[in-house]
Amino acid sequence: MTQSPGQGNALDNLLTESRTFPPSDEFAAQANAQPALYEEAKADREAFWAKQAERLHWETKWDQVLDWSGAPFAKWFVGGKLNVAYNCVDRHVESGHGEQVAIHWEGEPGDSRAITYAELQREVSKAANALTSLGIGAEDRVAIYMPMVPEAIFAMLACARVGALHNVVFGGFSAEALRTRIQDSEARLVITTDGQYRRGNPAPLKPAVDEAVAGAPSVEKVIVVKRTDTEVAWTDKDVWWHELVDSQSDQHTPEAFDSEHPLFILYTSGTTGKPKGILHTSGGYLTQASYTHNYVFDLKPDTDVYWCTADIGWVTGHSYIVYGPLSNRVTQVVYEGTPNTPNEGRHWDIVEKYGVSIYYTAPTLIRTFMKWGADIPAKHDLSSLRVLGSVGEPINPEAWIWYRENIGGGKAPIVDTWWQTETGAIMISPLPGVVSTKPGSAQRPLPGIGAKVVNDEGVEVPHGGGGYLVLDEPWPSMLRGIWGDEERYRDTYWSRFKDQGFYFAGDGAKYDNDGDIWLLGRVDDVMNVSGHRISTTEVESALVSHPTVAEAAVVGASDETTGQGIVAFVILRGGAGADAGGAEAIKALRDHVAKEIGPIAKPRQIMVVPELPKTRSGKIMRRLLRDVAENRTVGDVTTLADSSVMDLISAGLQSGK
Ligand code: ATP
Ligand code: MG
Repeated sequence: MTQSPGQGNALDNLLTESRTFPPSDEFAAQANAQPALYEEAKADREAFWAKQAERLHWETKWDQVLDWSGAPFAKWFVGGKLNVAYNCVDRHVESGHGEQVAIHWEGEPGDSRAITYAELQREVSKAANALTSLGIGAEDRVAIYMPMVPEAIFAMLACARVGALHNVVFGGFSAEALRTRIQDSEARLVITTDGQYRRGNPAPLKPAVDEAVAGAPSVEKVIVVKRTDTEVAWTDKDVWWHELVDSQSDQHTPEAFDSEHPLFILYTSGTTGKPKGILHTSGGYLTQASYTHNYVFDLKPDTDVYWCTADIGWVTGHSYIVYGPLSNRVTQVVYEGTPNTPNEGRHWDIVEKYGVSIYYTAPTLIRTFMKWGADIPAKHDLSSLRVLGSVGEPINPEAWIWYRENIGGGKAPIVDTWWQTETGAIMISPLPGVVSTKPGSAQRPLPGIGAKVVNDEGVEVPHGGGGYLVLDEPWPSMLRGIWGDEERYRDTYWSRFKDQGFYFAGDGAKYDNDGDIWLLGRVDDVMNVSGHRISTTEVESALVSHPTVAEAAVVGASDETTGQGIVAFVILRGGAGADAGGAEAIKALRDHVAKEIGPIAKPRQIMVVPELPKTRSGKIMRRLLRDVAENRTVGDVTTLADSSVMDLISAGLQSGK
């Protein structure tokens, strides 16, 4: 039912979805998660988290679970000591699993490598010895600017092993973006490759490092992995990985660090503005990464083959390729390349080849698969898949259903996981086997997590109401600040609901009538149409529920009569071209939105486009589309995956007028 404005809800609730999918008895019977987990956490939150921390090996046990006296700076497992890399590698070898494959690495050109835990231990030890030989140790910062090659994971774990902080920067970012991140973190070392495979061709990577390092005096050395055998310029700071690392001893004794020892800095993807160096520490972070990975994905380390398609340059790659999975002794696939090289069935080839059973990806890719057509996955045997995950944006209900039907064989539970770089690990998600899933809803905070939806005054909204998503309890993997900027940390996350002491995540959300949480996109993107506060997500989901639409992005553009008018950009399914976007088709789409969620949400304008501007982690950058919709010069495009997309959109709109 439509809420009228002024009922104390900061957001209108327009779209209703009634489909639910209860877990099968078979799945529920074997699930890691049981309903009692919620009760247990509720009964004693700190005891619950202490129990989760027991998943790890601690050199010294903590004497206090949580110290929140310095809020908003938390300390978890105070007094405890552990080595994060030891927990992800060595202890599995010591428990007799050295021969288990940790990583099935698949290169884009078709080369592959199976890395066992024993081999991982040797590689990480050599890399750790190499870092020590360069004088890199506890608290030093190391920038990692690499494609998805095994050495990127070795490098991250080697940093963790010697107590250095890694700062992973997407291999697709520009020299300038790399330089600012190196400078902000004052990195002493950069680890990179000569080049990277992208859409079937080698592309140079090191020139960007050379350019960045020239303007970043903190850098003393650059380690270069040979990946594409591309000719590179050489400076006296450069050293080849194969010369430095391969000659090191493969024995290394890890040192235990304090639970609050910093583990990494990661700059957020920059969907909204100037990137922030998010700081994470060791014990609490690893506890929550490990706990969530185990329960949310129902991981069975002896039989599952897990695949998270994220890049390590994104937090998902940190928590759900490196730290969560490896701490749980996973066997996982790591794929270097793009999903359409050599063809659009590449992911399904890989699922078949390795018998992938758990697949974790982003809505943007699911919508891309929809656009390419269901006949592509249909040609493959995907019967090994038993759990599917989604992260990064709200997943449109129609994309969710498509994912379930065409990838999950109509039965694999889908976990829609809400979290952020700042939260370090998953916060809101259904637990497979316990919760009946709903297409488009992340549903409930995980056991041990406190989250709710509040209005402008910080008061929880009733079921059916919309507002702001806040986190009302500290959690183990929470950020410990923004690197070098305490004030920005307090301002950005803790000032909006200062009186209540809530962390405000920046996202809008609503409760449905069962009290399940639906994420509604960023509050900065919320549109105000004739006094109605309309989320971008609901209008986009309504558009995607039309059979011709694969992807949609909507923005509010200033409008003389209504305050803001809704402008939609849509990509059609099956590669249908602009001719399918004629006046009649557009009218049909506008009417469809009006029918699905009400006339107030009817887009003022709909434009058919070939692509949408996205960050490297696949999120739609609405602020750039707002620039287009309001006829402004397009803003900062440096964090776009492909900056030519904006030209493509603008050119299409000019000619289509
Ligand atoms: P920046 O903070 O620099 O603008 P960013 O927010 O895109 O970048 P991330 O930390 O990677 O960087 O993304 C977290 C955000 O992604 C969340 O705040 C939310 O908006 C969105 N998000 C992630 N997962 C989900 C999900 N399952 N459902 C809805 N939104 C999600
Ligand atoms: Mg963010």
